[in-house]
Amino acid sequence: MTETRTTCPYCGVGCGVIARVDQGEVSVRGDENHPANVGRLCVKGAALGETTGLAGRLLHPQVDGERCDWEQALATTGERLRSIIDEFGPQAVAFYASGQLLTEDYYAANKLMKGFIGAANIDTNSRLCMSSAVTGYKRAFGADVVPCSYLDVEQSDLVVLVGSNAAWAHPVLYQRLAQAKRERPQMKIVVIDPRRTATCDIADLHLALAPGSDGGLFVGLLHAIMQRGGEAGAFDEGEQAAAVAADWPPERVAQFCELPLMEVNTFFDWFISAPRAITLYTMGINQSASGSDKCNAIINVHLASGKIHRPGCGPFSLTGQPNAMGGREVGGLATQLAAHMNFEPEDLARVARFWGTERLAQTPGLMAVELFEAIGRGEVKAVWIMGTNPAVSLPDSLAVCQALATCPLVIVSEVAADTDTSRFAHIRFPAQAWGEKNGTVTNSERRISRQRAFLPSPGEARPDWWIVAQIARELGYGEAFAWQHAHEVFSEHAALSGYENNGRRAFDISRLANLTREQWDEMTPVQWPVGKPLDLTRGWRDSGRLRMLPVLPERTRARPDARYPFILNSGRIRDQWHTMTRTGTVARLMQHIAEPRVEIAPSDAALHGVQSGDLLRISSPRGLMVARAFVSEAQRPRSLFVPMHWNAVFARQGKVNTLVAPVCCPQSGQPESKQTAVRISVWQPAWQGELFSRDNVTLPPSVHWLRKAASVTHYTLAGDKPALPWLMAFCEAQGWQLQQAQAGTAWHLLAWHNGELMLAFWSDRHLPETDSARVEAAFARSPATAFERHALLSGQAADEQRAPGRTVCSCYGVGENTIQEAIRNGCHSVAALGRTLRCGTNCGSCIPELNALLARALLPEAAD
Ligand code: SF4
Repeated sequence: MTETRTTCPYCGVGCGVIARVDQGEVSVRGDENHPANVGRLCVKGAALGETTGLAGRLLHPQVDGERCDWEQALATTGERLRSIIDEFGPQAVAFYASGQLLTEDYYAANKLMKGFIGAANIDTNSRLCMSSAVTGYKRAFGADVVPCSYLDVEQSDLVVLVGSNAAWAHPVLYQRLAQAKRERPQMKIVVIDPRRTATCDIADLHLALAPGSDGGLFVGLLHAIMQRGGEAGAFDEGEQAAAVAADWPPERVAQFCELPLMEVNTFFDWFISAPRAITLYTMGINQSASGSDKCNAIINVHLASGKIHRPGCGPFSLTGQPNAMGGREVGGLATQLAAHMNFEPEDLARVARFWGTERLAQTPGLMAVELFEAIGRGEVKAVWIMGTNPAVSLPDSLAVCQALATCPLVIVSEVAADTDTSRFAHIRFPAQAWGEKNGTVTNSERRISRQRAFLPSPGEARPDWWIVAQIARELGYGEAFAWQHAHEVFSEHAALSGYENNGRRAFDISRLANLTREQWDEMTPVQWPVGKPLDLTRGWRDSGRLRMLPVLPERTRARPDARYPFILNSGRIRDQWHTMTRTGTVARLMQHIAEPRVEIAPSDAALHGVQSGDLLRISSPRGLMVARAFVSEAQRPRSLFVPMHWNAVFARQGKVNTLVAPVCCPQSGQPESKQTAVRISVWQPAWQGELFSRDNVTLPPSVHWLRKAASVTHYTLAGDKPALPWLMAFCEAQGWQLQQAQAGTAWHLLAWHNGELMLAFWSDRHLPETDSARVEAAFARSPATAFERHALLSGQAADEQRAPGRTVCSCYGVGENTIQEAIRNGCHSVAALGRTLRCGTNCGSCIPELNALLARALLPEAAD
C-alpha cells in the first residue's frame, strides 16, 4: 500500500489529495495539510479514484488512424510540421493548449512555439474561462496578479459572488465560505446572478439581475462610493473613471439591471459600510463581449473604496481549471510572451537571451476563436491540440468541426481514445493522465502545488513536456529542449521568472530554481511571489500607481427578438467536469443530472406549453440542440440555462456550443458564452425509451440518444420512426432469444443468450420510469430464473421497494425519493437527514438541494 500527496485535477480551488494505492485499487481523501482545502474534497474530487481505470484510454501513438511506435509518430509529425513551416512560414502553425496541462508541459509548449517555431500562435482553453480577468488585472495593476487568498474570503465582512455558482463550480471554497458564515453569522453574502443557484443557499441578498447587466451594478457602485468619500485621485485615470460613473445613479442602475431600487441601494450600502469586502467573480463576468470592462468595473470599486490589498478584501477572480494560473505564469496565452513578460522590446530581448534563440516570435499570436477561424480560412495549416476538446468547448462548434475537418495537419495529445476533437486528428499522441503525471499546478490564489505520479504510465503514454521536447528535437531544436525530467523543466521556468527581474515583475519564483530533484519531489504548496510580499504596484514601471479604468456598462451583444426570444446561459453542473472525458465514466457522478437539460421559468413554460420532462429543440442562427425541460422557479423569465458538458460522445445533439456565436470581448478575446439568443419548440417524439445492453449497440441515424455511465451500456432514446423493427433485427442477427410484452403504447423487450440478459428495452410515448440499479443487477445475475425474467419484463412496478429516484447526494448515492420519504417520516432538517441517510455529511455539495427539498416539503413551515 502506498500513499501519495498530490493535487486534484479539476477546478481552480486546487485541493490537496492523498491518493492511496492498495493492491491496484485507488482511493483518495482530502489532504489536511493542504492550505486550499484542509482535508475537504467535493464529490468530483472524492470520486477521483474511480477515474483511474484504463477503459477508453489512448495508449499508443497513431498516425492516420493506424497504431505505430513513438519513433515513427515523432518522425512523421516532425516531417509534416517542417514541410508546412518551410512552405508557409511559422504563422501557418498553431498550438492549442489547456488549463489541464501541468506547468512544465505548458512551459515546454510555449517555448517551442514562441521561441523556436517563431510564431506566438499558442493559445489555450483558459482563453474561454478567464482571459477577461487577466486583461482586467493587467490594465489595473500592470501585471496579471490576483491580489487575494482563500483566507481573505473567510475573513471578510461582505463576500460578493458575481457570475459565480461557487457551490457547484468551486465547491470546497464554497464550503469554506459556508463554514465561515456559520461561525460569524454577521458576515454578509451577496450573490449576483440572473439564476437563483445553489450558491444562493447561504446568501443574505440575491440580486437576480438581467443577464449580462453586471457592469451597470459596479459602475453605479463606484458612483455611490465616490458620493460617500471614495478616493479616486490617487489612481491613474481615477478621476475619469469617477466622472464616467457619475452618470450612473442607483435609479439608472436599477433600470439597467432590471432590479428593485431597494435591492440596489441595499447592496451599495452594505459594500460601502463593510469594513472588509471581497468580490469573487468568474465565468458569469468573464464570458462576455465586455468582460474585460466588467472586471475593471469590479477592480475600480475596490480601489476607490480602499478595500484591496489588506485582509478580507479585494477583487478575486476564480480560475475554472486546475492550472489556468500556471498557463498564465508561463505565457501560455497568445497575448503574453513568457513569465509575465510581454511583447515589448526589452522583454523580447530578455527572453531571447534566456532561451538562446534568434527565432523568437515578435508579435502576439492568434487567440482561441481567431485561431480556429484562421484554420477554417486555411491560413493555419497545422494545429497541435493538447489536453482539450475544442470541438465541444469553443463557440460555434459546428464551424470549429468544419475547420478541423479541412485542416491539413491535426495533432492531438490526449488521454481519451475518443473525443469529439480527436475524431479529426491525423496524429494522436497518448498523454499521461492524472495519477501518472508529475509536475506542478497553480490554483486561483497563486499557490503552486505538486501533482505527483502514483501510478505507472500505462501502454506508451508519455508526459506532455516530453512529447513537445521530442518534436523540438525532430525540428532541429533539441539542444534547447534536452530536459531529462520534469524537475529540470520546472527549474528553467523558475529561473526565467527571476531572470533580470530586479523586483520589476511580481511573478518571481526564482528561489525555487535551485531545488534539487529530492527537494522538488518534497515541495509543499507555496504562494508566489516566493519569499517576498506581494506588491501590487510592482507592475507599474513609471508612475508606480494603480489604474482605474473609465468603463461604461454595455448590454450583451445577444439581443432577443421575436424570432429568438430567450437568452440562453451555459455553465457547469455539480458533478461533471468539462467535456466529461473523466467524470462521464463514473456512474455515481452521472446520476445527479444524467442528461442535457434546459432550465426554464414556470411562466415561460406555461406560455410555450412546456412541462418538466418534455424534450425541447433549442435553436439559434448557428445550430440546434435537444435537451429535456426542467421547469424551475430559480430561472428568470425569458432566460434559459443549459449545462456545457455534453458532446457527441455522450449525446446526439447535446452540445450547447453549437448555438453560441463566436462573439468575443475585443480586449481579451474571451467569447460571450453566457448569452445567446435562442428559441425553443417542444419535440414530441413518437416514442421514448431506455435501452440497456451488455455490449455497444449501433443506433440508426434517426434515433436521438444519450449515453449514461453504468455497469452496462445505457442509452436514453427517442425517435419518430418505430424502434422495434431495427432493435429486433439487431437482436435476431446476434441469435438472441427475445421476450417481449406490450400494454397500450408501452413496449418491453428483453434479449437473452444462454440464460444471460443481453439487452433490455422499455419504451412508451413518454419516457418510461426504469430502476437502473435493478436492471443492472439483472445483467449481473446468471442464469436468470423464469420468475426473474417475467418480473423484469413486467417492469419495475413489480419491485416492492420504491426506486430511490434522481441522485441528490452522490457521495452516499441517496436519491430524491428516499429523501422525500425521510422528510415525511420526520427528518425536518439537513442534520436530521444526514443522521438518517448520511446525505450531506461528506463533501456537503448537496446541502443546498437538501435545503430546497426541505423547503418545498415543509412549506409553509420554515426549513432549517
Ligand atoms: Fe477538486 Fe475543485 Fe472539488 Fe477541490 S473543489 S476537490 S479542486 S473539483
